[in-house]
Amino acid sequence: MGRRLLIALGVLAPTCFAAWLVWQSADQPGGGAGGSAPTLMPLPDHSQPGGGDGSDASGGGSGGGNGGGAQAGSGTGRKPLAGKTVVIDPGHNPNNRKHAAAINRSVSIGTGRKECDTTGTATASGYSEAEFTLDLARRVRAGLRAKGATVELTHNGRRPWGPCVDARARAGNQADADAVVSLHADGAPAGRRGFHVILPESVNEGVADTRPIVGPSRTLGHQLADSFRRFTGSKPASYAGDGEGTDTRADLGGLNLSRVPKVFLECGNMRDPRDAADLTDRGWRVRAARGVVEGISDYLTEER
Ligand SMILES: [Zn+2]
Repeated sequence: MGRRLLIALGVLAPTCFAAWLVWQSADQPGGGAGGSAPTLMPLPDHSQPGGGDGSDASGGGSGGGNGGGAQAGSGTGRKPLAGKTVVIDPGHNPNNRKHAAAINRSVSIGTGRKECDTTGTATASGYSEAEFTLDLARRVRAGLRAKGATVELTHNGRRPWGPCVDARARAGNQADADAVVSLHADGAPAGRRGFHVILPESVNEGVADTRPIVGPSRTLGHQLADSFRRFTGSKPASYAGDGEGTDTRADLGGLNLSRVPKVFLECGNMRDPRDAADLTDRGWRVRAARGVVEGISDYLTEER
């Protein structure tokens, strides 16, 4: 389904197709066969420690070259997400486990206090959630940049720990991001499967005021859930939220402290063997990244 869609887009918009090829070739050491190779063969894990230019949240954007004008400009080669800023937050940090004291200190999340950060979960074979989220974040960054967006990551695996959840939220605020997605995978009991998107609940307490972002975040979340489902074939988690792929929470600092549209994506359950088989599969992660990229893109292009 995704293949047909992309080919159709290529016919309609050659520049988009070219961007897709750039994205694919960046991720695919052997290159595609004749430019029509939808068999997705990403690089081995950790083969791109910097994931390109490796800019963290403090780094600059993609350059892009098309500036931030407002005209859609038909036929001028303007990329669909030019002028848009997206922050991707890879949940946790592979090194958090070595810095328990630093990540266990509490920070304010408005509705209470919570640990600065946590280690996250892992599959039975030891593939950590933090490794997964970094890998996916780098793929998503590449895909969004190919569409012209300025993309920042809250961290790129080079920090010893964290950042704390409040700093992760600030990264989106300081970038004045048009959309922020925090990437995670769940640690629920085996037998529970599927993905879900977590939306900010309306809170106005202490340093938290999500009232302005509840509406746009819900739109972002639904676009993301629809696209993620389409590209991965995964089903919405039956064990979380409304059973339709979305949940709403007031206990996450990363959402409570955000001033810009933001959602969390729990891509699957690492503790379930069948979900873990997906999450550890590079081809699946390529499709997952495309699902995230297209979901964000749907939101940002419809928003105008
Ligand atoms: Zn997590």
